[in-house]
Formats: sequence, C-alpha cells, structure tokens
Amino acid sequence: MTDFEQDLQKYQRQLDKGFAKLRFEHELEEEFMERYFERNLAKQRTALIVAFILMLLLAPLDYQILKDAEVSTFYTIVRMWLTTPLLLIAYGITFLPSFRKQAQHIAFLVLLVIGIGANAVGAYAAAYDLRTLYEGIILIIFVGYLLAGLRFRYSVACNTIIGLSYLAFGLHDIPSILNELHNYFFIFGALLIGGAAAFTLEYQQRLGFLQRGALRNSAKIDPLTGLLNRGAINQSLETIVDYARREKRYVSLLLVDVDHFKKFNDFYGHLAGDSALVSVANSLAQCCRRSLDFAGRYGGEEYILVWFDTKPEEADSLCALVREKIDGLKISHQQSPTHSHLTVSGGLVTTIPSESTTPQSLVSKADELLYEAKDLGRNRIKTFQYRSNQ
Ligand code: GH3
Ligand code: MG
Ligand code: MG
Repeated sequence: MTDFEQDLQKYQRQLDKGFAKLRFEHELEEEFMERYFERNLAKQRTALIVAFILMLLLAPLDYQILKDAEVSTFYTIVRMWLTTPLLLIAYGITFLPSFRKQAQHIAFLVLLVIGIGANAVGAYAAAYDLRTLYEGIILIIFVGYLLAGLRFRYSVACNTIIGLSYLAFGLHDIPSILNELHNYFFIFGALLIGGAAAFTLEYQQRLGFLQRGALRNSAKIDPLTGLLNRGAINQSLETIVDYARREKRYVSLLLVDVDHFKKFNDFYGHLAGDSALVSVANSLAQCCRRSLDFAGRYGGEEYILVWFDTKPEEADSLCALVREKIDGLKISHQQSPTHSHLTVSGGLVTTIPSESTTPQSLVSKADELLYEAKDLGRNRIKTFQYRSNQ
C-alpha cells in the first residue's frame, strides 16, 4: 500500500486501534492538535476576558471582607498587580503567531499563577481569621478543565498543583485544616468530577475528529479491496498528470483486467471471487512503493496502477514485478481455457505528458493495449512508450 493510500486510511486505523490514553499516532496527533488549537482559541480568549471582568467585579466584594490593611495590601499586589495584568497580557499574546505552538504552556502557566495566587490570598486572609473563599478555587479548577483550552493531561496536572497548593498553604495551621475538612472534600470532589468531564470532552473531540476524517476518506476508498475507487483514481490521476507535465517527468499507467473471471465466479462462487479480487488488489498495491504511486480499483475486476517518474526502460521491470506478484498468488482456476491459475492481462503506457495528454487519453491507450493482450492469449502485459523528445 502506498503512502497515499495509507494516509487515507489513517483515521480508520486509529479508530480501530483506539486511543484510551488520549493520544494518536504521531502525524495524526499533530493534525488533531492543530484543529484543537483552532477550536479552542476563541474559547481561551473568551475565558481570559470573562476572568478579567470577574476579577474586577470581585475586587470591591473582596475588599469588603479584607478590611485589615495588611491583607488588603497583599491582595492588591497579587490580584491587581499580578493576576489581572497577567490576564490582559495573556489575551494579547493569543494574537501573536508564535502563540500557536506555546498555547498549552502559556494557558498552563496563567492558570497556575491565578490558582496559586488565589490560594495565597485566601491563606493570608485566613491567618487574620478572615473567611477564605475556597469556592473560588473550585471555579478556577473548572475553568482549567473546561475553558482554558488545555489538553486533559495538562489540565489534570495544573489543577492538581492548584489543589495541592491550597493544602500546602494550610499546613502551617493543622487544626484549621481539621476545621475545614469540608473545603478539602469539595476541592477534591471538583478535581475528580471536573477531571472526568474533561476526559470525556477530549475523548469525544478526538472521536469526532477521527470519525469525520474516516467519513471523508471512505468516499475515496473501494470497500472490498481498500484501494482507491474510481472517483479518487480520476482525481489523483488528474493531479499527477498535471504535475508530471509541469516537471517534465514520466508517468506510467497500467490497466489490469483479471482473465476469465466470469468463469472463476461461476465455478468457485461469488465469495471466492471477492476474495480473489482482494488478493489481486493486495499484490498490485505491493507494486506501488513510492509515495506518489498509487493503485486503484477501476471497476469490477479491473485495476489501475500509476507510477510517477518511471523511465521507459523501467516499464519492463514493472510488468515483470506485476506478473511475479500475481503468479505468486497461485490461485487455482480450473475453468480457465488458457491457464490453470488465475492470471491477469494488462496494458501499460508510459509518457511525459504533453499539452494534449489527458488522464482519459492515457486510460484509453492502456485499454487498447489491454485488449491486444487479451487477443494475444491473455496472461501478458502489452506496453507502449511515448519516447518523447521534449
Ligand atoms: P476476460 O478474460 O475477457 O476479461 O473475461 P472475464 O470473464 O474476466 O470478463 P467479463 O467482463 O466477461 O467478466 C467479468 C466478471 O467479473 C463478471 C463479474 O461477475 C465479475 N465481477 C465484477 N465485479 C465483481 C465483484 O466485485 N466480485 C466478484 N466476485 N465478481 C465480480
Ligand atoms: Mg473486465
Ligand atoms: Mg476480465
């Protein structure tokens, strides 16, 4: 199977393999993260603006509780000179092109500063017997899980550190920890419930990404053989012929037809026929090794193979390779009037496409050659090379 066909099936392969650890194969993971970033950017910006407004609205309420001058000074330093400006800076950074690569780390850091800052203010206030607003931490934990655009593993790490910092700030006063066991219980609960929600959210996003990709590509794949279907062949052929014309490179197109296949079906049954078509398809696909080569099922028991940048001298070795692969299958065909095994005939055309060369003209020429091969007794490939002087 060529890189091109492998590429088409990567979504389905990953779906079959599963992704319980919320991680795809390398290339797919990069593609997903790209989409993840695009989708989350608007969410991250909104979260930053909402957090900024909330901080401003909360300030007068907090100052009402933090009457003590020392606490309110600390509060002003943390909230007004650190956290709130940080939100604005982070918002600005989201517009920098380099943010794309570092979005996760920046969101992680911003959230960490906000969370630990809130815990520090709470702990400082508690030292002055002022009520600590642990509910705020729960809010921050949920923002970290659901709105900050963090991947599940990052959000778990970040929120766990925030939760632990709440505990750490209280450690100097063990009796007060015992008095506030409810707070710890709710924060721990928020970490668990939010974590489960974040896992499900990312899992569903990943599933949707794979399903959409697989659906897009199933329209290009022949379900029986896994090769490109006719529509995709036409599309790919168009692209490769244009490319070869521009680059002045050779293209080879081989049309293959299974010999006496109707008799094979009639004798061995349709299911055996299907299985033979799959074996032939796999063998043909093995003949397309380079990334721009491809194999497709043109219809019924006909296939097309396309090789890019093949010199005319190579045509003979390509034919030999195809023959060798099909012979190697040794599929018995008792009803064949010409051979005891299943054989194929083919027409191969090699050319550097000129202005007048179209995918259709190449297929027509290959078809002519194929019928010559049939007339000459089957089990052979007729070749034709336009030795160009371009
Ligand atoms: P020739 O050597 O001249 O090509 O003879 P042939 O019998 O192969 O050609 P013909 O066109 O008469 O028959 C093609 C057969 O391929 C008929 C059809 O039943 C069979 N066929 C086409 N598609 C499928 C398929 O998806 N599965 C199976 N089992 N058979 C198929
Ligand atoms: Mg046919
Ligand atoms: Mg046939």
